[in-house]
Amino acid sequence: MFKTVRGMRDFLPNDAEKMRYVEQVSREVSKLYGYEEIITPVVESYELLAAKTGEEIRQRMYNFEDLGGRKVALRPEFTASVARLVATKMRNEPKPMRLFSTGSLYRYDEPQYGRFREFWQANYELFGSTRPEADAEILILTNDLLKRLELQNYRFKIGHTGILRGILNQEGLDEGQQNRLMQLLDKKNWEDALANARGANVSQKGLRTLERLFETRGEDAFQVLESVKETVQEYEGALAAVENLWEIFELVRDNGEQMDVMVEAGFARGLEYYTGMIFESYIPEIDVALGGGGRYDKLIQLFGGESIPAVGVAQGIDRIVLSLNKQKVSPKTAKERSVVVISVKNESKAKALELSAMLRKAGLPVEVEVMGRAVSRALADADRRGVAYAVIVGPEELKAEKVVLREMKKREQRTVEISNLTEEILVSST
Ligand code: AMP
Repeated sequence: MFKTVRGMRDFLPNDAEKMRYVEQVSREVSKLYGYEEIITPVVESYELLAAKTGEEIRQRMYNFEDLGGRKVALRPEFTASVARLVATKMRNEPKPMRLFSTGSLYRYDEPQYGRFREFWQANYELFGSTRPEADAEILILTNDLLKRLELQNYRFKIGHTGILRGILNQEGLDEGQQNRLMQLLDKKNWEDALANARGANVSQKGLRTLERLFETRGEDAFQVLESVKETVQEYEGALAAVENLWEIFELVRDNGEQMDVMVEAGFARGLEYYTGMIFESYIPEIDVALGGGGRYDKLIQLFGGESIPAVGVAQGIDRIVLSLNKQKVSPKTAKERSVVVISVKNESKAKALELSAMLRKAGLPVEVEVMGRAVSRALADADRRGVAYAVIVGPEELKAEKVVLREMKKREQRTVEISNLTEEILVSST
């Protein structure tokens, strides 16, 4: 017997519906904020995908040679593909440009809770603005999405790559050295990060500054930033980063929506292309991030385009579904309004089809009994599968232009006029 390949999953109807629900709400949010959807291929050139993603992801890419001898890989993230488009086919589009993409991604991660080798994201990228309004928009949009999904107690961890890079630049570390240090911080490996900095000849002052930064975090954003400012006062680049984050927080605060944040000065993310604000979203019940993003102002240039600033976020659809399950939030599903239409006798079969078409026209999901079962057995089956209503089409009622409408959960049924049937179901299901 065949099984799914390790790290790969089948989604049976219940789970598939939840995944698609989160995707659908993500798409609605993209429209509400003016993000236009693009579809890019799952297979891209290895060079493109490897260019600026983190070392860790690079090593976990599904890469292979296609039959034409091209070195290709399955995309481990969307940003490289979107950046490729923006640097090429879309380079003359007016800015700002807001793009949305959703689909599956592939990383050869060790399978564990919330970590799969094939997973789905909803991705939002805003191109053309260096201003804090753009960063704030991405945070506000993420907050809005999680709220619409009715997730509870979610929060944001926020930092700024410019704080650490500002210090490391001034200390003379090259980009490769900086990236290695960031990888360690991404893994919360503070000790090794400090040892690494020492090995890269960071000054005593620099080491003390880093050590203090790694300990600086808190929920009062402005208070944390005041303290970071003091710690990094001799590092110009880092100070500018703190200033930038301050402006972003002011905008998020003034937007009026409640947003729980934890500011972490030593926060780093695995992807190398970030240049500014970075963040992740969480719920307390699960210790992996639901989504993550940040600003990346240099990537488009790297792919041969002009310099176009960008900020974006990837929402992890799988982990959002895990969170909804964990918090027992069940989205309104099509099942709650679903109808099965059963004809009692052979001669009412055509009428059953006609009524099904009528109900579907009104937007109700309808299944027709196709197994030729007795009404009692068809009802038992509908009950087992959680169908909400049954319409029983019998010759006696039909003579009076009526059918029987059964509310499955309540185990109640009544005879209704066919002309009122749609309305009766719509009213009782809202
Ligand atoms: P990243 O692209 O690494 O910034 O990740 C963004 C989001 O994608 C994460 O917060 C997760 O929700 C999701 N994600 C990343 N890797 C995986 C994985 N292996 N399995 C499931 N979800 C993932």
